[in-house]
Amino acid sequence: NETPFPYENLVVDIPDYPEPGVVFKDITPLIADERGFSACVDAMTQHFLGKGVTKVVGSEARGFLIGTPVAYRLGAGFVPARKPGKLPREVYTQSYALEYGTDELQIHKDALSPDDRVIIVDDLVATAGTALATAKLVEQSGAKILGFSFILELAFLNPREAIGKEYSQEVYSLI
Ligand code: 5GP
Repeated sequence: NETPFPYENLVVDIPDYPEPGVVFKDITPLIADERGFSACVDAMTQHFLGKGVTKVVGSEARGFLIGTPVAYRLGAGFVPARKPGKLPREVYTQSYALEYGTDELQIHKDALSPDDRVIIVDDLVATAGTALATAKLVEQSGAKILGFSFILELAFLNPREAIGKEYSQEVYSLI
């Protein structure tokens, strides 16, 4: 994006969290701020308004925080992509690589249909492993992916390139 996001300074860098050498970006002060939170929701909503989004898919857990208000504002439904064992009915499952080992995300099989037009939303994209796993869940359901959106994109990890290798849809990040 050309213009800097005005509430960028409310994201707090936490050195050596969750482990030594990692700088964690804490978005909780940004969404705790009434202007910062509405600016995030408004910017994301504005970008996708009028594009026929029927569902927002957000990944556990911080994807729920930004995904649900954006879905509400777009007049779309919200579908949570959750860690294994959290959803009570039949699910699609997608595993993805972590730095050490693998993890899985799931969505309910009946949460999306081939008629749905979906955006995939999270607070932050780093390696894009989570976003790509979420995209594959959406694909399993036959729904159409319109784009990806994040509050923060860690550009030095090249997530845009990682997504671009598999998906031509746009990636819209606020910071
Ligand atoms: P990725 O799969 O792109 O490598 O990592 C992104 C996922 O991990 C997102 O679901 C995000 O919530 C979480 N995550 C990884 N690093 C950070 C961070 O520094 N700050 C926050 N808020 N979330 C992070």
